[in-house]
Amino acid sequence: MARSASRPPQPALVAREASGVPYLLRRSERARRLRLSLDDDGHALVTLPSRASVRDADAFVALRRDWIARQLRRYAAERACLDSRGPLRDGATFVLSGQPHRLEERVTSRARTTIEHDDSIVPTIRVLRAPSDARPLAVVLERWLRREARAVVERRVAARAPQVGVAPAALSIRDQRSRWGSASRAGRLSFSWRLVLAPPAVLDYVVVHELAHLAVFGHPPAFWSLVRSVAPESDAARRWLRAHARELHWSLG
Ligand SMILES: [Zn+2]
Repeated sequence: MARSASRPPQPALVAREASGVPYLLRRSERARRLRLSLDDDGHALVTLPSRASVRDADAFVALRRDWIARQLRRYAAERACLDSRGPLRDGATFVLSGQPHRLEERVTSRARTTIEHDDSIVPTIRVLRAPSDARPLAVVLERWLRREARAVVERRVAARAPQVGVAPAALSIRDQRSRWGSASRAGRLSFSWRLVLAPPAVLDYVVVHELAHLAVFGHPPAFWSLVRSVAPESDAARRWLRAHARELHWSLG
């Protein structure tokens, strides 16, 4: 998936405007070229290499007005979709495996908090709390989701590895912001636990993608033909991930 280094500390941001488009400007010693992105709060953010000028940044933003407008519409749509589910508490909607689930939270007399996933009538995630458990619901859910993710990813890797013709050496579940999965030359695979929130076909595509890296490094045409031969729906899955990345990162608030 996309490669990117760990985040450097955030230098000061300057608020600017170009051709009527407000944006934030950040200077970076490390950046090699001008970069435009949308930050987590929905602001257009320009990263400016030290040799470029503020005028370059203004011109860059003016050129990409339409792209920014499109990104802001997508951001607003994702935000509205999440807000419609309500705050994370008893009675809210929580999307797991791409399916809306009813979230229930009850205090019981149990010694340990347990979580039941019940799809028998109305898909429900039931948090049965031990009276002594004061952790926030997001923390309780994340721990459970990480375990669920490991089980689901292990099953998909076991099913898909023979089809791709590879044998991974190790598997880990992480929470990296910049990528959904990665594969090392030593055969170690890692996946974001948040994939368990996405539709199963999307998780499956990321599993196939990383397994395929054990056969072909980088993303040359041979890599994509291997991925598509095993997972024909991979283009749709990639589009889904691009459109829902923030939704997956925001899902626990
Ligand atoms: Zn890749």
